Amino acid sequence: MSIADNLKQYKKEVETDGVKLIAVSKTQSVDAILEAYHAGQRVFGENMVQEMVEKQNQLPDDIEWHLIGHLQSNKVKYIAPFVKLIHGVDSLKLLQEINKQAVKNKRVIDCLLQIYIAEEETKFGLAHDEVIELLRSSEYAELKNIRIVGVMAIATNTKNEKQITIEFNELKVLFDGLKASFFKNEESFKEISTGMSADYKLAIEEGSTMVRIGSNIFGKRIIKHFKNISNN
Ligand SMILES: *Cc1c(COP(=O)(O)O)cnc(C)c1O
Repeated sequence: MSIADNLKQYKKEVETDGVKLIAVSKTQSVDAILEAYHAGQRVFGENMVQEMVEKQNQLPDDIEWHLIGHLQSNKVKYIAPFVKLIHGVDSLKLLQEINKQAVKNKRVIDCLLQIYIAEEETKFGLAHDEVIELLRSSEYAELKNIRIVGVMAIATNTKNEKQITIEFNELKVLFDGLKASFFKNEESFKEISTGMSADYKLAIEEGSTMVRIGSNIFGKRIIKHFKNISNN
């Protein structure tokens, strides 16, 4: 199957369920992205700032670029002019920096709060009490150039579907609670970004509104591809 065939198949499958497909193009070449683009895809996810900026410069302007990986505060300025959605916001400090760069660019930047749901030891994501503390803080209330439009999470990397389902469900329950407590009158707070190549079906069953699919569309990631672009 070609990238175009895969893309069309996954796009149709998830969009039938009313879910948005983020084609995760990290490490993939500009040509591979163009193949997906010509097959109809406009939303791409990258996890490295420099890689996203280089690709954005070379690819059509109507692409929506989503930053899906961990973002360091000192790199926000490079993506602030064009990024469509930042998925991995996991601290007030990062949110403040995004706000500052959004002001400079005269924009409002949409963000998702990354929630920690996995059983694994990973460094990133907010615990439930931390999310609530952030949303209650006066510092957050002052930020006028960011908009929190939902939550994002990565489930444990396991074949145990029951466990993954429990984690996705936990995310949905938290989302519903946040919606009721903090975003009741905000229609824009509606996104649950979760589910990747291995677990997107379970994610959709448990309420995901955005799935981030890379290898199922582009094939296995080969780091070399991106190195080639940088050397051009
Ligand atoms: C790489 C990545 C994905 C896509 O992973 P695949 O297994 O290739 O679908 C999704 N989300 C995040 C945060 C990623 O870093």
